[in-house]
Amino acid sequence: MISKRAQSIDASGIRRVFDLAAKLENPVNLSMGQPDFDAWEPVKQAAKDAIDQGKNRYIVTQGLPELRAKLRESYGIPADSEETDVFITAGVTGGLALSYLTLLDPGDEILIPDPFFVVYRDLAMMLNAVPAYYEIYPDFDLKADRIEAAITPRTKAILVNSPGNPTGYAANQEELDQLIELARRHELFVLYDEIYDRFCFDGPHAQCFGSYDKVILLNGFSKSAGVPGWRLGFAVGPKAVIAQMYKLQQYSFVCANSIGQWAMLEALDADFRPVLEEYVKKRDFICSALSDSFSFVRPGGAFYVFPEAPGGSGMQFVERCIEQNLLVVPGTAFSRRDTHFRISFSAPMEQLERGAEILNKLAKS
Ligand code: PLP
Repeated sequence: MISKRAQSIDASGIRRVFDLAAKLENPVNLSMGQPDFDAWEPVKQAAKDAIDQGKNRYIVTQGLPELRAKLRESYGIPADSEETDVFITAGVTGGLALSYLTLLDPGDEILIPDPFFVVYRDLAMMLNAVPAYYEIYPDFDLKADRIEAAITPRTKAILVNSPGNPTGYAANQEELDQLIELARRHELFVLYDEIYDRFCFDGPHAQCFGSYDKVILLNGFSKSAGVPGWRLGFAVGPKAVIAQMYKLQQYSFVCANSIGQWAMLEALDADFRPVLEEYVKKRDFICSALSDSFSFVRPGGAFYVFPEAPGGSGMQFVERCIEQNLLVVPGTAFSRRDTHFRISFSAPMEQLERGAEILNKLAKS
């Protein structure tokens, strides 16, 4: 009765953790994959205004022309560009779904990192495409030689995520340039998920826009504008591919949230520096609090740390954390390995302090 497609998606591992977590009262929650700040006031006001002004109807599938124009401007794309286009998606997840649908036939391989943001793997499986992996353990950097070794005649695209979830690793420009060179040599598409681009703590975000004509950028507002529930993202890429993507959007998502698109005109103007400073403080705190008890790569971006689990099993360690009223996520949610766990430091300082105390006690016991 149920399709093989639906049955191929196995959420049992993570469900066990959610079931345990659901029993907790007022836990220390370091599991969140979303910002801990609310949308800015002008953004909220713009959304309310749009509702009051009756902007509640369908809009064109490509998205609000004003917002697309502003995004074009921010990437330096001329309004009449023959090569490149931008359109608004239902979150980066919507952009991922449409790019997979556009590029991958059944049996085609897409190279994704391990560890990975979970949608990368399961979307491929939903389409009868094949998620193939390039390992980024233990340092999480983009190792062009390992990626090259994973390429087969069926490889269509490489997915790159920086700053990364769950690792917090922020690629430098040189490693990204090498990866683009590799993709060019093998004529592969690059899907660059840069949703955490504003959360770069130690240096500029590595960019690949304009470096190669098979790059598709996937970005969005969930993290940077504090509106993950509004489902707003965008895709930038070769005009011919983008046109196929929004054709498919017409018959699936129809359009992204219209009210939110009006409000995002405000979000693009907001000063992100105060938020970034807060997140640098949180990163610095959690890294120094855990450095004696845990082995981890210091995150250069996003809002995650991905330490090795004391005792070896991420799942078992997370179960021990939950017994102590602390929520973190086992590495198995993001990986074929059960060796790590993810801490999100997108949480109030007081939660980070309590969480670090529990983690340190568990590591020592
Ligand atoms: N890409 C990465 C790397 C993420 O971590 C997330 C959310 O956690 C997404 C995409 C999904 O973003 P959106 O809310 O825009 O669909």
